[in-house]
Amino acid sequence: MQSITYDVCIVGAGISGLSTAAFLHARQPELRLLVLEQSRHPGGAIETYGASGYQAEWGPHGFLDNCEESRMLIRLAGLEGEVTTAPLGEFVRYVCLGGRLRCIPQKPLQILKEPLIPWSAKLRVLADLWKLPLTGEPTVAQWVAHRFGPALLPFADAVFTGTYAGDIERLKIDAVMPGVRELERRHGSVIRGVVAKMRGAGRQPSATKKTLPAMTSFAGGMARLPERLAAGLAASGALVYGNGVHGLLRETEGWRVQAEQGEVRCRHLVLALPVNQCLELLTPALPTMPPPLAAIPEARILSVLLGFDQRARIPFGFGYLSPEREQRFTLGALFSSHMFPGRAPAGHQSLEALVGGRRHPERLELTDAQLIESVRRDLGQLMELPEPSFTAVLRPRSGIPQLEAGYTELLAWRQRVQAADDRLHLCGFGWKGIGINDMTKEARKVALRIGAQATVGEQDEVKGVYF
Ligand SMILES: Cc1cc2nc3c(=O)[nH]c(=O)nc-3n(C[C@H](O)[C@H](O)[C@H](O)COP(=O)(O)OP(=O)(O)OC[C@H]3O[C@@H](n4cnc5c(N)ncnc54)[C@H](O)[C@@H]3O)c2cc1C
Repeated sequence: MQSITYDVCIVGAGISGLSTAAFLHARQPELRLLVLEQSRHPGGAIETYGASGYQAEWGPHGFLDNCEESRMLIRLAGLEGEVTTAPLGEFVRYVCLGGRLRCIPQKPLQILKEPLIPWSAKLRVLADLWKLPLTGEPTVAQWVAHRFGPALLPFADAVFTGTYAGDIERLKIDAVMPGVRELERRHGSVIRGVVAKMRGAGRQPSATKKTLPAMTSFAGGMARLPERLAAGLAASGALVYGNGVHGLLRETEGWRVQAEQGEVRCRHLVLALPVNQCLELLTPALPTMPPPLAAIPEARILSVLLGFDQRARIPFGFGYLSPEREQRFTLGALFSSHMFPGRAPAGHQSLEALVGGRRHPERLELTDAQLIESVRRDLGQLMELPEPSFTAVLRPRSGIPQLEAGYTELLAWRQRVQAADDRLHLCGFGWKGIGINDMTKEARKVALRIGAQATVGEQDEVKGVYF
């Protein structure tokens, strides 16, 4: 590496680091950028699997197309022609209730129209209008039960199993849905808050007909996105692989970054890393500002890919999720070959069953054969499945950050650290969300902050909740 001072050094070539680089380059091509990546390939948690005509994902399967920053990124990567979508409006999802798959509406409030819960429980939801906000740091389960009643807990469980592989008895509502919690505080009720928000946006609550977003991936799988973003950077020498960063030193004019292949000086330092990897690297560099937590918990999952011929009766749709109270081995499954074309060879179908999560890390210790057997037994009770013609067990390296006790304090610490040093930028897996759209939004904020293009607000967004 040359002994120049870079304008920006980005640590990590996952989607957060690569999007930050892409947004920066698009606005300020004159910037001297350097991305340092410890592994030999880009993408971090995003990795696509392919064998015998089957395609699956170690990490994310897609992201919703309702995020401007992610759409922008697809354009910057030149991948518009490879996009493949599965609209939420067309693909149903299932929740396992009482030992069978029940088709559920994509938007949680519409559950109230379905015969999935008794009338008394539906009426209980209206108690939200007069329930006082819970103080302190309630868990998702405590908050849902308090505001809407315990009958909605299995549905909340399914939502947070599907996103965090988490445990609603441990995830904190202020951490996972800060925007909704803010609505509740301001209006004294979530329902009143949502109605006020719609009125504020000039829409009549009754006349709201919002189109549902679509799940987005690429014909070659999710890895296409980091691959394309990284290719240009690597070709110009702005991305160096096999160059893990192990030390950071604050200097008058910026930062000194100590990496495997030598030292780098930069004016702006971006740590585009999962929360725990960021804390490990940054804490020694900030002796006067120690973080309130040394690390946060992570949930690990694995997926069992099963391929079948046409005899398998996999229901049409995205897949299903199973709340913990169903006591099943599998957290849920994605019906991959229904979702996106080209995921199974001609005349075949595939599904990816998810195992483990925050509640069942012990299941990750099982052998491949035990996992395949247990998943087959479990799924065989829910749908008609013949002998699989293909099996594989995918064990992702990345864990999913869990936003539990103390997380909101950690987020406030991040804000203080960035306020104290406008040349230090923290984004990445678990900082303000865990999904790809969260990552691209934060990456864009970092790019704007560096370019001083705008004052970046920290207001919490009210995100849609979809199954
Ligand atoms: C199993 C699983 C399923 C998921 N499913 C979905 C989904 O369906 N939809 C969705 O939207 N999101 C999903 N996600 C979340 C999504 O994958 C993440 O939001 C996103 O990939 C995080 O990107 P990142 O760049 O912040 O972190 P990472 O992907 O972890 O990238 C960080 C990079 O930094 C590198 N690095 C680490 N330390 C150093 C160092 N010291 N020096 C240099 N380099 C370093 C790593 O090698 C890595 O390449 C899933 C995640 C997992 C694990």
